[in-house]
Parts: sequence; structure tokens; C-alpha cells
Amino acid sequence: MKKLKIAHLYPKLLNIYGDGGNVLTLIKRCQWRGIAVELDEIDIGDKIDRHDIYFIGGGQDLQQIEVSKELLKNKNFFMEERERMSVFLGICGGYQLMGHYYQPHNGERLEGISIIDAYTIAGHNRFIGNVTAETDLVEPRTLVGFENHSGLTYLQGDTVPLGKVSVGHGNNGNDKTEGARFKNVFGTYLHGSFLPKNPHFADYMIELALGAKPQPLDDRIEFLAHNSLINKKY
Ligand code: GLN
Repeated sequence: MKKLKIAHLYPKLLNIYGDGGNVLTLIKRCQWRGIAVELDEIDIGDKIDRHDIYFIGGGQDLQQIEVSKELLKNKNFFMEERERMSVFLGICGGYQLMGHYYQPHNGERLEGISIIDAYTIAGHNRFIGNVTAETDLVEPRTLVGFENHSGLTYLQGDTVPLGKVSVGHGNNGNDKTEGARFKNVFGTYLHGSFLPKNPHFADYMIELALGAKPQPLDDRIEFLAHNSLINKKY
């Protein structure tokens, strides 16, 4: 089985609320199965070569400004990687920069890399709290996590939501959608971090990157955590 190459994009700037735990989850769930995996942490100014999975975490507006400029230098590369069906996961601030732009409350609009057809505008309220979303991408059909954002994200064209929120606000607190998917590019507002409590989604990403369904793991503990959060408001 091929070695999986994972790129963690700009972890020194976008890595809020333990989002780096998503990368640790992907690595451990490969290692537990004997799948060779390699992690590259990409810093500002680094050249980026091809990877199977790209992860970018969340962060405050200020850090997003610096990362936005760096992402734009590699926009064509990321577009090619999307077309090559590489797997992407962006959380919150990183998710916002995968779209066309993020318009903060103050200051200039941050341009995104448009690997999903979406845009984000800062709202007047901050959405903070637990989220449960229903998805048809994985079984069980629930995704759980924690949101903390003022950005309101709207999906367009062929970009579809990860799921529908049953608890929490999700993309914009209005259309009941949470997250986004186009080809193998995924974005979500779920911090927590997201993948440790949603191991079935981590395995879905590994399957897409490998091109083969990975062997099941004993996830009884992970799903104790997952199930404890389903429909939990506070
Ligand atoms: N700064 C963005 C917002 O407030 C993203 C926040 C985050 O990544 N948690 O919407």
C-alpha cells in the first residue's frame, strides 16, 4: 500500500482550539493500520510539493491575513491538486480561505484560493457552542464538534454542504448547512478537534487518499466521545 503524504499548512499561524489534533488523528489511524505516512509542516515561504492530504486549521482574522497572502502565491498549485483529487480539510478560518474570499468586520477583504465555490462575510454575532450535523457522506451519519466563528459562509454552484445542522449554527446560522465539499475538498466549522471525535470521517479521508477502504479499527472509545456530544447543546 502506498505511503500517504500529509501537508499541514501554516500550523504556526492557523492552529486554534487544538486543530492540529486532526493531523495527529490521520497519522495515528494510518500507523495503527501499518500504513506508511509522512507529515510535512509547511511554513510561510516554503515551497509546497504534491501531497495526498492537505490540512489547514482555524485562526483569528489577523493570522488569516498572512496566510491568505501565502496561499494566493500557490493558488494554481492548489487548483491542480484539487483537480488531481487530492484530499483537503480546512477548519473554520482555513475553510474560509479555501473559498473565494473572507470579508472581515474591519479591513480589506482576504482573497481565498477558490478550491470551493463559496464566500464568507463576517457577521455581527459570534457563533460559539456545540454543533451536531447530519451528513450522508459517512456512517454513522452524525458529525459533532465545537464552533467559534463570526464568519458567515455561503455555498454556490456545485459546492455542497457536508451536512445539515441539528444543533448549532454551522455555515451561517440561516440555511441550516454545515461545512462544504467539492470533489475531495472538505471544509467545516467544527473544532474540537474535529477528527478525533469523528473517526469515521477521518477514515473516509484516508480511503479517498489511499484509493482503498482501510481496515476497521476498534473505535469504541472514540464513539463514546462522539455519541456523548450528539445533540448536546451545552
Ligand atoms: N476569524 C474567523 C471568524 O471569526 C475564523 C475563526 C476561527 O478559525 N475559529 O469567523
